[in-house]
Amino acid sequence: MPFSHDMVYSLATVVDLINTGAGERDGLAEVGDLEEFVRRREVSGVEAVTRRDLGEVRALREEFHAVFTAPDQPTAVGLLNTLLQRTRITPHLAEHDGHPLHVHYFAPGSSVAEHLAADCGVALAHVLVENERDRLRTCAAPDCSHVFVDESRNRSRVYCDSRTCGNRMHVAAYRARRRDIS
Ligand SMILES: [Zn+2]
Ligand SMILES: [Zn+2]
Repeated sequence: MPFSHDMVYSLATVVDLINTGAGERDGLAEVGDLEEFVRRREVSGVEAVTRRDLGEVRALREEFHAVFTAPDQPTAVGLLNTLLQRTRITPHLAEHDGHPLHVHYFAPGSSVAEHLAADCGVALAHVLVENERDRLRTCAAPDCSHVFVDESRNRSRVYCDSRTCGNRMHVAAYRARRRDIS
């Protein structure tokens, strides 16, 4: 992948965010879920999260999902530009919590949603600029709607998780072949 480590980190954050909406239970159902997300993804500079933050982040999740799964590059560019146009962005070099020097894009005093829109939005912008949009994938397992970023050299990854979905699909294919033989 031609992306710097902080881009990769922000892409993992946007994947995590989108996938909170892909499980059986909504992973952002309550304010506590958002607090847990902020801890898990080390979203810095956030003091307290409110119901309003929850609503904003849930709306942002839908927007990122639409960019991620856009049918073509112009659609992805249009959706991402809409998001970036209303986002205050202030590049700032930072080194904290054991992370090497990286660039923050969120403006001082940003809410959680603004923070995520800025940092994840810029990361996705780089994906589009580098013409790497085909790395933004949705799991190929029919009963799974998790998204992931394919970081493999030959762009061959099709399942969100090889141990769960990949393994499950291989077992199903093996059983289907056995049925054909017998
Ligand atoms: Zn940081
Ligand atoms: Zn999956």
